[in-house]
Amino acid sequence: MSRSRLLVFAAIAVLVAAFFAFGGHKYLTFDNLKAQVSAAQSYYLSNPVKAIGGYFLLYVLVTGLSLPGAVPLTLVGGAVFGLLWGSVIVSFASTAGATLAFLVSRFVLREWVQEKLDKYMRPINEGVRREGGFYLFTLRLIPAVPYSAINLVMGLTPMRPWTFYWVSQCGMLAGTIVYVNAGTQLAAIQSPSGILSLGVIGSFLLLGFFPLLAKKFVGAVKARRVYAKWPKPARFERNLVVIGAGSAGLVSAYIAAAVKAKVTIVEKHRMGGDCLNTGCVPSKALIKTARVLSTIRRAKEYGLKNAVAQFDFAEVMERVQRVISTIEPHDSIERYTALGVECVQGEAKITSPWSVHISGNDGTKRTLTTRSIVIAAGARPFVPPIPGIEQTGYLTSDTLWGMRELPRRLVVLGGGPIGCELAQAFARLGARVTQVEMLPRLLMREDPEIAAMVETRFREEGVDVRTGHRAKEFRVEDGRKVLICEREGRDLAIEFDALLVAVGRIANTAGYGLEELGIPLTKARTVETNEFLQTLYPNIYACGDVAGPFQFTHTAAHQAWYAAVNGLFGSLKKFRADYSAIPWATFTDPEVARVGLNETEAREKGIAYEVSTYGIDDLDRAIADEEAHGVVKVLTAPGKDRILGVTIAGEHAGDLIAEFVAAMRHGIGLNKILGTIHIYPTMAEANKYAAGVWKKAHAPQRVLHYLERFHAWMRG
Ligand SMILES: Cc1cc2nc3c(=O)[nH]c(=O)nc-3n(C[C@H](O)[C@H](O)[C@H](O)COP(=O)(O)OP(=O)(O)OC[C@H]3O[C@@H](n4cnc5c(N)ncnc54)[C@H](O)[C@@H]3O)c2cc1C
Repeated sequence: MSRSRLLVFAAIAVLVAAFFAFGGHKYLTFDNLKAQVSAAQSYYLSNPVKAIGGYFLLYVLVTGLSLPGAVPLTLVGGAVFGLLWGSVIVSFASTAGATLAFLVSRFVLREWVQEKLDKYMRPINEGVRREGGFYLFTLRLIPAVPYSAINLVMGLTPMRPWTFYWVSQCGMLAGTIVYVNAGTQLAAIQSPSGILSLGVIGSFLLLGFFPLLAKKFVGAVKARRVYAKWPKPARFERNLVVIGAGSAGLVSAYIAAAVKAKVTIVEKHRMGGDCLNTGCVPSKALIKTARVLSTIRRAKEYGLKNAVAQFDFAEVMERVQRVISTIEPHDSIERYTALGVECVQGEAKITSPWSVHISGNDGTKRTLTTRSIVIAAGARPFVPPIPGIEQTGYLTSDTLWGMRELPRRLVVLGGGPIGCELAQAFARLGARVTQVEMLPRLLMREDPEIAAMVETRFREEGVDVRTGHRAKEFRVEDGRKVLICEREGRDLAIEFDALLVAVGRIANTAGYGLEELGIPLTKARTVETNEFLQTLYPNIYACGDVAGPFQFTHTAAHQAWYAAVNGLFGSLKKFRADYSAIPWATFTDPEVARVGLNETEAREKGIAYEVSTYGIDDLDRAIADEEAHGVVKVLTAPGKDRILGVTIAGEHAGDLIAEFVAAMRHGIGLNKILGTIHIYPTMAEANKYAAGVWKKAHAPQRVLHYLERFHAWMRG
């Protein structure tokens, strides 16, 4: 806790202690205040402004310091000022006092609590950000919930003070009027507890729960309206039908089968979807061969002479297929059938919120009724409508794997992760690669110096990187394929033999019932879902690339868990998809991995941060491996070891980041990473050294100064 916070905390503690020590609590009792009412009434008649001012200040002070006495003071307000003015004065005084207590709690305790209870506070913060005003209003309507507790607890959350103020004022009004009104009959009241009869408490509870009930009701009405025109089957043949057997669909089906639900998965193409057949698996297999070639070319660095590799591109591509075949059983019909999933090869179409029509690849047709549906239809490469592109022809990540001849000159359109991974791999395999990117640099999502490391390596390896080039037109001139690019207002031509389009992927949203059911899409053309991954129809879920916003296998699988569990158990309990620590990696050389914020994003979002950077060029293992390059860059909250985000560039970055993902997910700071034994000599030590950089920058200078003197004294 900082010194200023400690000072405020101490001042408040002293004030509260003084209040009790001088018997303040005895003055603010119901009986004492009641006895003072007639004196207060005559004072108010002769000095109305002073009386109101003094009362207001006293009220704000008592409630602002969270001292006991708010209820008797409110009653006295009614007795002295009457119902109308009493209600007005108490309403403003109690809200001002509540806001003061809220601010004090925020200033003194929030940072400390958020840090210590990070794990528990994260979902609370998320809830408050989304619906905090609503919950505060509900709590304020129920006088049984202690006023001071609400002020102090809300101060620990990210709720804005202005929201807290006005919601409190509105929410407490009904209760204030009841108490002030009771105060006008003070003589008849024997104790504050007498004010709230069982009937009144019941009414307040009803009032308090009204917004919650209203919300549920509105939700139910909305759902009814959405479902209105669809006849609901009396019985369902399945608990879950999953559309698409890629990373997302397979995980949903797996979970359903694991909890003994009756589940059918429908895949129109190949089990395993994009990742296994055309995405992660083939690309990583190709990248590995390319990397081996690159290492052989660097043989001299390892003290070897004349190492050369001869290869046949077709065999390399056959190896890629072999890798796919080896992994295929993990996603196969046989495996999933054995797990209890009904696997159907065919095209699925949602025909109502509870039915899916399946046109089997074997010509069979049938319709299954189901309680819930999970849409996991994936995405496909986006091909921009650039004039001439259809005439010159192009490859995408879908069609690339059928190639058996290495193109002499390859244009890779796109400087994102997929474009970069493939551009480098093909260059290492011997193609003359020109990579064309419209934006000013490669890997635009990463910090500029990280992207620059990749770009520098690409250029060193012979990739002709053309950033800031807009592909304008494709032409075939005298049998030669030419791309016309525009750079700073000037056109230039790039000749090529093959074109690989890697400018992004769009969700598959057409042809399987979304239009007919009126299921809306987002601006990014993905299926619109809420935080539970429900679409417009609460029993239809979407996950993976089709739902976005991420396009990774691990995020698809992560979302799939929520979609399946909510689809099967949502009537009992629903879970919000947790995106608090989403990692990813781009498997270029150097590899780039990230979790949480980088500097660019932190600046854009106005989030204060500190950076600790450790250069991997200094790491023993990296030096021994001739891989002494790259960086571990950690963003932390100012003055704290709380991790906001990490970027790693270098050998095995995608593996190294896992430690930080776990740390962020479970609220572990850099101090704990520093205090963890890392095996020597490993690349993972880089994480510990990055934590060490942070620690060094935050070394307690004053303590060190005294230690120096202590040691000098010990030396005599
Ligand atoms: C070249 C490349 C490299 C990649 N590398 C990585 C990586 O290294 N790491 C990573 O995390 N991610 C990577 N990805 C991304 C990853 O492949 C995807 O994010 C992931 O596969 C998405 O899974 P999904 O289940 O959402 O969709 P998909 O895997 O696309 O599965 C959707 C399935 O639904 C089927 N389908 C669609 N409509 C219907 C219908 N009406 N009826 C029946 N079936 C239907 C499709 O045939 C498809 O099989 C890469 C992608 C590419 C292209």
